Formats: sequence, structure tokens, C-alpha cells
Amino acid sequence: MFDLRDLYQQVIVDHNKRPRNFGKLTEFNHDADGYNPLCGDKLHIYLQVSDAGVIENVSFEGEGCAISVASASLMTDALKGKTMQQCEEMFGQFQHMATSDLAEAPDEEVLGKLTVLAGVREFPSRIKCATLCWHTLHAALKDSAEPAKTE
Ligand code: ZN
Repeated sequence: MFDLRDLYQQVIVDHNKRPRNFGKLTEFNHDADGYNPLCGDKLHIYLQVSDAGVIENVSFEGEGCAISVASASLMTDALKGKTMQQCEEMFGQFQHMATSDLAEAPDEEVLGKLTVLAGVREFPSRIKCATLCWHTLHAALKDSAEPAKTE
């Protein structure tokens, strides 16, 4: 059987080395901090959301392990042009993928490229690295003054 794991690994390494949408947006109307104390990952997410509730632009800054940076890079790529509702659906599917049984195939239709992170299921301590950006996104959308924490 063809093992996709090497390919997944390559995508994660690539997104960690050259994160997409990295840096502060010049124009944004939501932002929030996120922190994963288990690993030390820190993120800041910037969002520009239209009146109609569509994510027009999204970026992030921060430092962390390869998984946290690659996950934020992949997430920001995936969110552009999505509605709040689509974004919630992705978050739900992503969390499900990160915590579900290994035998269960992730929902590729909703998650697209984000399925490369399905491998974190094998490493429980890395799940929070992969989901930190999503918790931070939530905090940003709610304009939370408190940083998002995975603990
Ligand atoms: Zn981490």
C-alpha cells in the first residue's frame, strides 16, 4: 500500500519552513493571542472579516514547533474566502480528525489540504500544537481579550 506519511511530512516541513500568510495584516478587524503551555507555542492571528461574514484576509505571527506553525499556515490558507459557517464546520471536522480513531478517514471534502495533519492523532501531546491556531481563531472571532489557551 502506498504510504502517504512521507508526503504529509513533506507538506508540514514545507509549511514550517515557508509559512504562508505570515506577518501582521495592514488592515484587520479581529485579532487574538493563543498559547499552548505544554509545548510553548505562541500565535497571534489577524482577521479581516466582511460585513457579510466572509473571511477576506487572515494572517498569523508567532513562534512554535513545526506542527503549530504548519497548522496555522495551512489553516490561514484554507480560511480565505470562507464564511463563518464554513469556518465553524472546518474547525469541527479538524478537531474531530485530530482526536478520532486512527482508522477513521478524515472528511477530505471539508478539510482539503488540512488532512495532512491527521497524523497528530498518533501523538497525543502534539494534538494541541495542531489545534492551537483554531482556538486562537475562535478567540479572534469573539474578540476575546483573554489569550486562547489549549489548557
Ligand atoms: Zn507545539
